[in-house]
Amino acid sequence: MDIQGSIYSRRFGTSIIINLRDHKNEKNCTWRCIYCPWKKESVKSDCLKLEESLVKLRHLTQSQSDLKSVILSGNSDPTNYHGFKDLVSEILAIRKTQKGGWSLVCFTNGVALDNESVLNACESVDEIWVKLDCSNNALFQKLNRPVTQSESLKKQVENIGKLHAPCIQTWLWRNQKDFEYQNWTPENLKGLIDIYEQLKPTYVHLLTPKQESLFSAIQPVGHEGMHGFALRIEERGISAEVWG
Ligand code: SF4
Repeated sequence: MDIQGSIYSRRFGTSIIINLRDHKNEKNCTWRCIYCPWKKESVKSDCLKLEESLVKLRHLTQSQSDLKSVILSGNSDPTNYHGFKDLVSEILAIRKTQKGGWSLVCFTNGVALDNESVLNACESVDEIWVKLDCSNNALFQKLNRPVTQSESLKKQVENIGKLHAPCIQTWLWRNQKDFEYQNWTPENLKGLIDIYEQLKPTYVHLLTPKQESLFSAIQPVGHEGMHGFALRIEERGISAEVWG
């Protein structure tokens, strides 16, 4: 794993980022989203062992008085990390000892939430952000591209529903060269709202990829469209914000 920070995040304030990658430094995620910004071998910093990481984290959290968040994120899904549950406990213990006021935030695609140990660990963090971009399985398979056939949108929604207070992150994009590879469609937006209503997330954050996506035909959704969609979500009583 490696630890970066502090950095300023518009969404999470002054933050320390923990990337639970392995020593091979390769992306470790069970999806291959067509807009994924992570390339193989894209992280250049040293890979630390668990004990070294905790020492570094203790030092950073103690020395950063305006720290708002410690974020589990990066080029690997944190929940795939072998010692995820223990690591979450260690980080929460550091916060308790230091009487820190920061939040522990975790990003995941949610696939591992059917593992009870991972689910319990996710329930103990302050904010668990799960990805949901598609409202039907055909689109999910085409755009989020899970590695194994056993992953489906139905399972994804069931997994998110296991969390008592999930936060959902949704990426939206257009593709004017190949309409099949976009999720900014009336059907998908309507379907997403129905799923949000079913899951009752604490927050929905809406993002749109930048032009320099790996998949070059992807185009961002305009400001007006994103905010209009956020309003439609809020009309159902769900907090929604645009961040991209
Ligand atoms: S879930 Fe995240 S890390 Fe995994 S492929 Fe999608 S964008 Fe990349």
